[in-house]
Amino acid sequence: MGKPLKILLVSPEIQPFAKTGGLADMCASLAKSLHSLGHDVRLFMPKYKQADEKKFSLQSLPVKLSIPVGEKNIAGEIFSGKLEDGAPVYFLGNDFYFNRNSLYGDEDEVFTDNAERFIFFCRAVLEFCKSLAFQPDVVHCNEWQCGLIPVYLKTLYSHDAFYKSARTVFSIHNLGYQGNFKAETLDIARLPEEVFTPEKAEYYGEFSFLKAALVYSDSLTTVSPSYSKEILTKEYGFGMEGVLKKRENDLHGILNGVDYLEWSPEKDPLIAKTYEPSDLDGKEACRSALLKRFSSTSGNKQPVLCMVSRLSYQKGVDLVIEALPSLLKTGLKFVVLGIGEHRYENELQKLSVRYPGNCLCLFKFDERLAHEIIAGSDMILIPSRYEPCGLTQIYGMKYGTIPIGRAVGGLKDSIEEFDLKTGQGTGFKFDAFDLDAFLAAIKRALSAFKNQKSWNRLTLNGMQRDFSWNQSALAYVRLYENLLNK
Ligand code: ADP
Repeated sequence: MGKPLKILLVSPEIQPFAKTGGLADMCASLAKSLHSLGHDVRLFMPKYKQADEKKFSLQSLPVKLSIPVGEKNIAGEIFSGKLEDGAPVYFLGNDFYFNRNSLYGDEDEVFTDNAERFIFFCRAVLEFCKSLAFQPDVVHCNEWQCGLIPVYLKTLYSHDAFYKSARTVFSIHNLGYQGNFKAETLDIARLPEEVFTPEKAEYYGEFSFLKAALVYSDSLTTVSPSYSKEILTKEYGFGMEGVLKKRENDLHGILNGVDYLEWSPEKDPLIAKTYEPSDLDGKEACRSALLKRFSSTSGNKQPVLCMVSRLSYQKGVDLVIEALPSLLKTGLKFVVLGIGEHRYENELQKLSVRYPGNCLCLFKFDERLAHEIIAGSDMILIPSRYEPCGLTQIYGMKYGTIPIGRAVGGLKDSIEEFDLKTGQGTGFKFDAFDLDAFLAAIKRALSAFKNQKSWNRLTLNGMQRDFSWNQSALAYVRLYENLLNK
């Protein structure tokens, strides 16, 4: 290994402290891998209500920050904790901004002060590192909430000797979330006028955290090779394709790994019975445990399909709702675990009333249930409109739960279409975002399910694939080193 690097990994969510999606898993597992490679990685996130001091044994540090936000100076406290492998995690506390029931908004509405909350966050992390005398080589920022960190470093902090050699990496996890706010945000952030131009942070008259990050960061990454190409097109670029095209040479697609310490059927404490490729009895026990949750035991030999997902437009929940009546009529079972848009919850709820023994809806965010459902199902549906990486298809493969996903982004990169003749492949993919293509992929899966030998082969193919972080973490290290050597 080269010289150990000092890496500051900043994210609005980190597993297990607070999570709404794959971003939290990615940050925690990348940090653990970097830590195990011998790098000095420190993490930074807001201290939300979910990041409970007692539950996570957080310590209050004797640091008092005072961060300019608009006309005010906002006080920030710092707490420290650890990932289970020992990597330090620092939390920015301010009850008014972060002690809320959810991370970014309530119900279908985002918080109206999100710009202020994350301006405070972005500037506070830079002040905190100085007070800690932790001088990072690389500041790795994630999602729009961290988008102003590279901007501050190249403007207000550009002459600050402390950050003279720091380089910034910005990871795009989902271009659908951009942090676009009214133009006055520039003043609240106390950034100079030069930042607010169409070449920089201005996006159709608004101030965009994401666009600013895409312009000001030294290097950009996204979470799969396919998504890194898709986002250069109008179809998937969410209006950012122009600015991304200009940064094409600095944009890298690195497929997310998964944390097999958390997600392995061999040692998962959250499932009914552990299992492994050479002994699948436990999978049957997990399946039986899941089936008990349905209101009827008839049809228990039928395939069990699941979805563990945010219920959002991106995830193609509408396609699942369209497909379900014809599928449920065949007697198969379907379970969904998810929270999100009410329109989808309502439609899914109606289906569970119409097919009570076959359709089970669990509208909550529950880590244990996610494990139970992924272990107990036969197939997992991920018919996303777009998918930067996606993790549940990878968890599915590891648990012998066959993914059926749309061939976009990380789904395209991680699922290999199963070939009945050769026995190669790990799942089923479809191209067009339409009902026929989706149902055709499900049909291929259902016919493979009928053939015990093929199904076993398919199951084992997926369970034996390796999506651990080792390779991906090394790719990030190479990227950091290249940046520092530039
Ligand atoms: P995204 O980040 O776009 O939401 P990913 O597939 O990358 O999608 O990651 C989703 C993560 O969130 C996975 O770890 C999945 O298990 C988890 N997850 C999604 N919904 C729920 C839920 N309702 N309860 C528990 N975990 C969930």
